[in-house]
Amino acid sequence: MNDPMKGIVPLTFYEPGQVQRYATDTPALDQYGRRIDYLRVSLTDRCNMRCVYCMPAVGMQFAPRPELLTNEELLFVIRAAAAAGFRKLRLTGGEPTLRQDLIELIRAMKAIPGIEHIAMTTNALRLKKLAAPLKEAGLDRVNISIDSLDPQKFRTMTRGGNLDEVWAGIAAADAIGLRPIKLNAVVVRGMNDDEVIRLAGLTLIHPWEFRFIEVMPLTGVAGLADEGVVSSAELVARLSAHYGPLEELGHPASDPARIYRLPGGLGKIGFISSVSDPFCATCNRMRLTADGRLHLCLLRDNEVDLRAAVRSGASQAEVEQIIRHAVYIKPWGHGLPDGVRPTLRGMSELGG
Ligand code: SAM
Ligand code: SF4
Repeated sequence: MNDPMKGIVPLTFYEPGQVQRYATDTPALDQYGRRIDYLRVSLTDRCNMRCVYCMPAVGMQFAPRPELLTNEELLFVIRAAAAAGFRKLRLTGGEPTLRQDLIELIRAMKAIPGIEHIAMTTNALRLKKLAAPLKEAGLDRVNISIDSLDPQKFRTMTRGGNLDEVWAGIAAADAIGLRPIKLNAVVVRGMNDDEVIRLAGLTLIHPWEFRFIEVMPLTGVAGLADEGVVSSAELVARLSAHYGPLEELGHPASDPARIYRLPGGLGKIGFISSVSDPFCATCNRMRLTADGRLHLCLLRDNEVDLRAAVRSGASQAEVEQIIRHAVYIKPWGHGLPDGVRPTLRGMSELGG
């Protein structure tokens, strides 16, 4: 049984009335000089799928509702984050489209001064219905998870997902202009690594970016990750052998993906190599869990408890100070090469 407080950094200075410690006229920087301006917001730890690389088949426990930030608390925290210099939000989960009042939340987030861009990562099961209202509320674009083009294999990998619904969601997002559309596949050896040629081939006929993600050893699925990682280098080699040399399009500083194009392709291919080739030096992000903790590095357990501050009556300026402090103490990088593994939360709580 996990200790729910393990890894949570105790903070004492956010008691109301404490003096500010960090300058507020510049965006938050960490102690290594990285500007952290991208907040990945987990709207719920629940999901309507059970992907094999994300959740264990049995034993999932979800946070009781009172532990989750309310809409008002969430918007309060995002206002403070925007004041600290955060500019981009990504809504994730669990499955973000399961959050009640999602449309109203996005509308309110988009109206917060400083928030320039809102994206969402979704499994797309509910996107056919939601794409138009999401766009209208201010969502800029979506990343959609699709691990297989084979309906039966998709059902197996997601433990029940319906591929037709995903395609309908992709079509709706494309039609309404939630672009550029990015599609994600977590590649697991022996499950879907035989499909990378077909999946990448989608970019020959669509202007999408298809991103291959190395499976990461998060709590609940670490065993799978041990055996299942297919390195991006191996995928590049396999795709080049099939399609011819890939055109390298570079590695945007704020993007974990290394970008390529298939010969003659309309779209792009991305490789996210967090295990074999981490991008920690250019990391610009932190995560807010649905229960109100700032999770400082995806693959470490360090957290800062914002919910306690908000529920103890801290002002927005005080929460901004806590966020600036959390940014400051963000770890340099993950410790997988040294055998340090996260144990506190699974990916379905952290949102990728
Ligand atoms: N439910 C949404 C979805 O699946 O797109 C959003 C949440 S999901 C946790 C966010 C991203 O994390 C997805 O692209 C998913 O494929 C990825 N992911 C989940 N478990 C992973 C793992 N163990 N290693 C690498 N990526 C993972
Ligand atoms: Fe749900 Fe996304 Fe995790 Fe799959 S990857 S179980 S869709 S949260």
